[in-house]
Order: sequence, then C-alpha cells, then structure tokens
Amino acid sequence: MHYETLIIGAGLSGLAAGIRLAYFDQQVCVLERHTTIGGLNSFYRLRGRNHDVGLHAVTNYAKPGTKTGPLSKLLRQLRIRWDDFSLCEQNGSSIKFPGCTLQFSNDFELLHEQINSAFPSEKDHFARLHQFLINFDELDLQQNAQSARETLNQYLGDAMLIDMLFCPLMFYGSAKPDDMDLNQFVVMYKSIFMEGFGRPFKGVRPIMKTLVRQYKKLGGELRLRAGVKRILTDGNRAVGVELDDGTQLTADRILSSAGAVETAQLCPPCPSTKEEASFEPIAGDVTFNEIIDTLDTTPAELGHNETIIFFNNSEKFSYRKPDEPCDLQSGIICSPNNFQYDTPLEEGCIRVTALANHDYWLSLSEEEYIEAKADWVQKIRETAIQHLPDYRSHIIDTDSFTPKTIKRYTGHINGCVYGAPNKSLDGSTNWDNLLLCGTDQGFLGIVGAMLSGITMANNHCLMN
Ligand SMILES: Cc1cc2nc3c(=O)[nH]c(=O)nc-3n(C[C@H](O)[C@H](O)[C@H](O)COP(=O)(O)OP(=O)(O)OC[C@H]3O[C@@H](n4cnc5c(N)ncnc54)[C@H](O)[C@@H]3O)c2cc1C
Repeated sequence: MHYETLIIGAGLSGLAAGIRLAYFDQQVCVLERHTTIGGLNSFYRLRGRNHDVGLHAVTNYAKPGTKTGPLSKLLRQLRIRWDDFSLCEQNGSSIKFPGCTLQFSNDFELLHEQINSAFPSEKDHFARLHQFLINFDELDLQQNAQSARETLNQYLGDAMLIDMLFCPLMFYGSAKPDDMDLNQFVVMYKSIFMEGFGRPFKGVRPIMKTLVRQYKKLGGELRLRAGVKRILTDGNRAVGVELDDGTQLTADRILSSAGAVETAQLCPPCPSTKEEASFEPIAGDVTFNEIIDTLDTTPAELGHNETIIFFNNSEKFSYRKPDEPCDLQSGIICSPNNFQYDTPLEEGCIRVTALANHDYWLSLSEEEYIEAKADWVQKIRETAIQHLPDYRSHIIDTDSFTPKTIKRYTGHINGCVYGAPNKSLDGSTNWDNLLLCGTDQGFLGIVGAMLSGITMANNHCLMN
C-alpha cells in the first residue's frame, strides 16, 4: 500500500499533522504501536475511574472567540470549534520557594505585581526582560540554540527570582537540565505566564476524541497496534516502513513523532552523503514520577483552592536527573478540581509530580519495582503536604507512574517526557524525506505538540 505521507505515532502531534494532510486530500496514514491513541497525553480507566495520563492543564488559555494566539491558530488550522475543547480557566497558581511565594493567574498583571512587591529592586530589570521576551520571535525555526539562563542573568540580578521564573517553565517544558533554550523559554513564558492554564471539564478525552473524529471525517486512516519496526530507505531517502507484523508500506515522506533518537534507531546507518547530515540527536535524561490521589472530598473543602503549585524547598532550584530515585526538594502539585467549571467534578483529585532518576526505575525487577513505587508514593506525598492541607485521611484510591511506565506506553528512551535536549526545530533528520514532529521537533506540551504537527505538515508535506 502506498501513501503520500505516513505518520509514526497517534499522539497529539501525529494526529494534528494527519488532520492537516487529510484536509488537503492527501492519502495519509497514522501508525500507532499501542491499542489506543494519545501517547504522552492519553487516558485510561482504572478501578472504575477515568484518569488522564498527562494532563495537568492546557497552556495558552484564551477566551472563546479570541482571534489571535497559538490556541486560536491551531483550532483554525484544524477546523475545530472552541466548544469542542471547552476549556475552563484555572483558579490561580503559585510558585513557592523558601520564604517567597509568587502567585499567578491567566491575568499576567498578577504575576507582574507579585514580582514587583517581592523583588522591588528587580522592578525595572524585570520590566526590561519582559519587553525583550515579548519582542522575541520564538517561532523562528532557523535560529541557533541560545541559553535562557545566560539571557536572564543579563537582565536580572536576583538568583532566586531567576530560579522562580524557571521553575514552572522547566517543569512544563524543558528537556535540558538546569537551563532551557531561549526560544523554548519564551514559548513557555508566553504560554504559562501570559496566556495561562485551562482544562476541559472531562479532561483530555474530548481533545483526543475530537482530533480522531476530525481526522477520520476528513478521510485519514488510523492504524492502531501498528508499530513501526524499521524505516525502509533507498540512498538518502526514506521510502516506507515495515511494521511489527512484517507488513510493508511505502510513502512519499514520513513524519515521525516517536522522538529523534528513537526514529534514528528505526533507520539503517545514514549513508551521510547528504551535505548537512549533521543532526546528532541526544537521548534525554529529564523525567518524572507522578502520583494521582483520588479523594472522598474536594481539595476546596479542605481549604485548598489553587490549581497548580510549583514548589522548591531548597535555596537553589535543581532541575536535573536526581541521584536519588526521586527528587523530594521540588515538584508540582496539581488539582484538576480547581478550575472554574460550571459544575464541580464528582471526586477530588491531587496529582503530585517529582523529578525522577530513570536509571533507577528502569533497573528494578518487577518485585522491587512494585515495592519502590509504593514507598516513593508515600515520600512524594509527604513532600507535597508541606504545601497544602494534609489530605491523607481522605485518599480513596491512588495510582502512580514512573519513567518505566512512560517508556512502556510511548517508547520514549529513558521514559523521558520532553525527549532530547537538542531539538530539530525545522524537523529535519539526516534522511531527506523523514521529518520529525512533536516532542523532538521542539514544540512541547499539549498545544505545542499540536502546533508542531501542524507546522511540520504545512512546511514539509503540503509544499508541492
Ligand atoms: C505526566 C505528564 C504530564 C503532562 N502534563 C502536561 C500538561 O499538563 N500540559 C501540557 O501541555 N502538556 C503536558 N504533558 C506533555 C504533553 O503530554 C506532551 O508534550 C505531548 O503529549 C507530546 O505529544 P507528541 O505527539 O509529541 O508525542 P507522544 O505523545 O509521545 O506521541 C508519540 C506516539 O508515537 C507512538 N510511537 C512511538 N514509537 C512508535 C513506533 N515505532 N511505531 C508506532 N508508534 C510509535 C507512541 O506510542 C506515541 O503514541 C505531560 C506529559 C506527561 C507524561
């Protein structure tokens, strides 16, 4: 069977790319190794409850009808209505460091005021930094990587303020330890601090189901349980794929959301006659454990109304693979209840995320793994309750995942959520017509992944 475009992966980026191509009548097929769609942002049912794998919040919130910004752009490009996602705004979030809390909401002025009042000597410096970030063209796909930390050091003098700004942006979008590429910092700054968080009442399900419905309606083909075992090549060109069951499919081009190193591993060694055969993807190292506690009450009834808390308990914020199985000095606490829904969610939920050491989690035997998971659930929870009311007597169910879970369900090396630390912003690989989309192209998160799929489809698959 021959296709114009084959897409590896039915996550957000692969499906968004598929919709674009199907809309323009391309013969396109999305291949997914798993039995279900969604990848890092999938959903599942456990002991009678619906859970989201990855959703804390959708970034880049915009009110219904807004004409500008990434969210409205992607809805327009995918021909999806605002109502299909029906995002509800966050209540408000905070960054908590020793002796200092900065609150923020979907109104940037709150963060601005909080910074001015907590760091008065940085008022003018922050204003200049903010202006610089607003003017920065983060979507220029030809730019060279620059260090965000070096840039922030040029504008701000207070090390804690710098770390406080980095904390949520790294947690929600950095594959690099202790630094970010400047363009990625700007993407995350605008999407989290300036536009803010929203969530559909029913979590990620309506988003994923809308994408699949739209894709199939436009004539796109989706094959589940269709893992790509290898990419077939001829000279410098990718010409097709072989699936796990031996089926071979050919295509004019291939778009892969599997990750840069993961995609390279599907190919034979590159003949490197291509002049710019120079992109050397590096496997990522940053990943997380997460616990999901279901409660017999709502967080609000316990006095906790904040949507997301990004906390750090030590002097300096360390964002890297910890030596311990998990880093208990920092983390994310998210309550899916604390968004402005018309009606409350049925059950309470607290999700806590901590940096994790993938080597440790991937090296355990099944027995050790189960024991370690249970142990670290307790430890991560104990760290979290330093920052919110002690909810432990209200827990009625707990699930948790580790880098091992992420690796098993998405194939990402080291179970890394944000993939390679070096991105291929233009999507190119060392093969002429094999392109990357999603995590390792470099637009991260829910909105980022969809924009990545759209951009790569527009730039590479709809040009001729
Ligand atoms: C715990 C967690 C919390 C998160 N929270 C948020 C959040 O609150 N807000 C936010 O914006 N983002 C969040 N994210 C990030 C967001 O989920 C991801 O950035 C986004 O889903 C990435 O989409 P993708 O399409 O690039 O990749 P993926 O979702 O990884 O999709 C790749 C797909 O390719 C498939 N695949 C891989 N190899 C093969 C192969 N050889 N053959 C066939 N198929 C293959 C995989 O199974 C997978 O389905 C979170 C992620 C996690 C894990």
